[in-house]
Amino acid sequence: MDEEKLIEQLNKGEIKLHEVEDIVNDSGAATEIRRKYLEKKYGMKLEHVSKSSIDFADSINRNIENPVGTIQVPLGCAGEVKINGVNANGLYPILLATTEGRLVAGMSRGINVFNAAGGVNTTIIKDGITRSLILRTKGAKDAVKLIRWVESEEGFNFLSEAFSKSTKHGKLKEIKCYTPGRDVFLRFKAFTGAAMGMNMVTIAAEAAVEELIDKIKEFGIDAVLISESGNMCTDKKPAYINILEGRGVSLIADALIPREVVEREFRVTPEAVAELNKTKNLQGSALAGSHGFNAHVANVLAAMYIAHGQDVAQIVEGAQAMTDVAVVDGDMYVSLFLPSVEVGTFGGGTKRETQQEVLRLLGLYGENDTEGITRLTFAEIVAAACLVSEINLLAIQSAKELAKSHYKLRRG
Ligand code: NAP
Repeated sequence: MDEEKLIEQLNKGEIKLHEVEDIVNDSGAATEIRRKYLEKKYGMKLEHVSKSSIDFADSINRNIENPVGTIQVPLGCAGEVKINGVNANGLYPILLATTEGRLVAGMSRGINVFNAAGGVNTTIIKDGITRSLILRTKGAKDAVKLIRWVESEEGFNFLSEAFSKSTKHGKLKEIKCYTPGRDVFLRFKAFTGAAMGMNMVTIAAEAAVEELIDKIKEFGIDAVLISESGNMCTDKKPAYINILEGRGVSLIADALIPREVVEREFRVTPEAVAELNKTKNLQGSALAGSHGFNAHVANVLAAMYIAHGQDVAQIVEGAQAMTDVAVVDGDMYVSLFLPSVEVGTFGGGTKRETQQEVLRLLGLYGENDTEGITRLTFAEIVAAACLVSEINLLAIQSAKELAKSHYKLRRG
């Protein structure tokens, strides 16, 4: 099929953007035709958008529809941070994809300080991705009867078996039910191997609920599935349920930094950093009604999620993190609680060329990892990096150096 003719047909609305694929039967060529159509329509060359090493045939439906090219984000290395964790033990390079000047430099400074203090400790509290589905019953009596059965051993075993029929790697860990009346919100929580698991758990939980609907007829309960997502998951929305119950990996990063290291490297006292943390991260955030009690966890999550092929929208709940700074026997104890680090080392965006390369650099591409060790290790690296950057920023701000360091940058 003639390229010019297809562009003309797109322009006239005779064919749709996604139909180009079927006509030319080549995703690379279809990508180029759609891009040329945009170039013609809007009268400008998309010179940089056209550059990429992405296999679009492999990306279609998995990662993108109607591709027209790529957006590039600079990737920086902040150095290697020492982690004393559960799965992460040793030195790990921190790679950040960002366009925010000073993020990488700030992380570098922080890494030097934490490494001089012996590194960052990471501790995992719990792990499991969640999906909540809504079942509508005839009334509250049936709703509560349903909950009692689902939360019983028999009910859990039934659903766990049904869940496992749709996934090899996923394992149901827990179901918690909530009801405001006749509707029941079933919050499935599952272990997901190396995958972040949202597609996996959505497919498996829906199949399990279909079996449940049949099963509960035996107890005289009629129910219908209202939605495969009831917002109590809670995916990509700020929500307290994730802080309390966790979502993905819930973990803590902490460290004790000797006073002389704080004073020498950060040029502040532990007391000044602790005071700023209380006033800004706790009081300021409480006054603002914030769900996050931290300085800029979202910054590090965004840069790491982009660099390592994560679902970037999950920064919303990831950033609901809480920073603590305390003076302990004169030294500075710092910690960061991250209840929802939803990451994967296999599936989703980790498949894409540059992101996969970065994960492989860390030795954490999870293709053969059924235990989820690469995923948990990566979550610990994310947590460590967030703590380092968090404390570096607090130190800068308490030393009133923020304005100075930003002034040095060219703006605009
Ligand atoms: P996925 O790419 O959809 O699926 C990963 C699949 O890979 C698993 O289901 C599993 O198959 C298989 N697999 C092979 N080796 C594995 C291993 N070692 N560990 C784990 N799984 C392995 O990835 P996902 O993590 O489930 O979902 C992530 C994607 O979902 C992202 O692209 C994200 O943007 C998107 N997302 C979807 C929703 C939604 O509601 N559906 C919401 C948010 C995000 P088996 O299951 O057969 O074991």
